[in-house]
This record gives sequence, structure tokens and C-alpha cells, in this order.
Amino acid sequence: MKFSVKNDDYVMIIAGKDKGKTAHVKSLDRINHRALIEGDALKTRNIKAVKARRASDKGGRIEQPGTIDVSNLMPICSQCEKPTRVGYRIDEEGDKVRVCKKCGSTLEASKSTARKMDRKARIAAKKKEKEKRAENAANKEE
Ligand SMILES: [Zn+2]
Repeated sequence: MKFSVKNDDYVMIIAGKDKGKTAHVKSLDRINHRALIEGDALKTRNIKAVKARRASDKGGRIEQPGTIDVSNLMPICSQCEKPTRVGYRIDEEGDKVRVCKKCGSTLEASKSTARKMDRKARIAAKKKEKEKRAENAANKEE
């Protein structure tokens, strides 16, 4: 099966508890179809119990970046700043390149675009909350 995400991609999480957040793909497990992702405030994490083997070691639980099924991820297109499905094209040099299905440009998933999208999502969430509060206040006055 073909993966639409690559190592080092910036992706949008489209399902699960981190839906709507962006993440960075650290590695891919092709056999189990999972991606190791890292991102700000992601809930997708693995807790690993570790035993202290030496006196200097700290035992307990350590948090690690988590893995997620690759089908829950979509690469972010830097051109249209949206998560997108992926198409393929052969470029002038005969190399197979990924293209954004939305805008047709060569797919480039950059960190800055992911950051921008995170910021937008935060602003949208804040706005929603504000509206909700205003609505509640209005209801109280009635
Ligand atoms: Zn695009």
C-alpha cells in the first residue's frame, strides 16, 4: 500500500483525539501502517514504564511521542495551506513527485505552513468561545 505521507512531512491529523492539529512525521512504520508523530500539545503519546537499572537512573513512566495510523494523517500543502489528498506526477527530470489534489502544485509541506495553520485554528477556537460566552450572556439577560 502506498503512503500519502513521507518522513519529515508536516501533516494535519484528520481523525482521533488530536483531530485538527498539525504534526511532524518523525518516522513511518510501513508494516504496521503507523506514523510516529510529534507536535505541540498532542494527546497522541505513548507512556512507557522504565525500570531504574542503575542508581543514577530514574524509574517510572516516561512520555514519548506517539504513533498514529497513517490513514488519519493528511499532508499539508504549502501552496493552498490546506490538508490535501495526494496525486503523483512525473516531472521534467523523470522523477515522480507528489502533487496537491486541491491546487495541483508540487506538494511541499513546510513547518511554517503548519505553524500558520495552528495559529489559525487557535484564533478560530478563541472566536468560537467568545461567541459562545456572548450568547450565554444574552440568554441570561432575557
Ligand atoms: Zn495545494
